[in-house]
Amino acid sequence: MKHPVIFLDRDGTLIYDRPGFYLRRPEQVRLYRFTAEALRLLRRAGFKLVVVSNQSGIGRGYLGLEMLRRIHLRLKAELKERGARLDGFYFCPHHPDDACRCRKPSPFLALKAVRELGLTLKGSFVVGDKKADADLARALGVPSVHLKTGHGRSQRERYGPRLGATHRSPHLLAAARWILRRS
Ligand SMILES: [Zn+2]
Repeated sequence: MKHPVIFLDRDGTLIYDRPGFYLRRPEQVRLYRFTAEALRLLRRAGFKLVVVSNQSGIGRGYLGLEMLRRIHLRLKAELKERGARLDGFYFCPHHPDDACRCRKPSPFLALKAVRELGLTLKGSFVVGDKKADADLARALGVPSVHLKTGHGRSQRERYGPRLGATHRSPHLLAAARWILRRS
């Protein structure tokens, strides 16, 4: 049986983020207190958990690929300590002006994950704090949950109903509970 997937944004969804903050070092990785529980609930319900993240800090020269790798190792370790894990990690390293094919809201990386991990889009969801996440969901033809954490509030103020998410939740755990009720 092919598993449905929760496509998760990283910054402002799994880990602490706010406007004006830029994560450049592993020591700055801070899980939200409800992240691990949310991931455990979703996994138990049969979802695979895949991060799809725009990491333009690489293209902007804020950090290198080796530092990004160390940040992801730190994130994995923090989750493991709390009994949670991710199935895949896909990121776009490009500058927004590069006109690459992988930057969200392009569905390129999400579709790559579906192929590589043998998943199905049927019954899948996207969760994130930005309009690009809702747009990604639309491109994939799956529902989206917009969070208030991270840039969630400022994105909502900026775009209003044009944000176009299927549902809004205060944080990842509330989103997980909503997804479980719908599934
Ligand atoms: Zn890209």
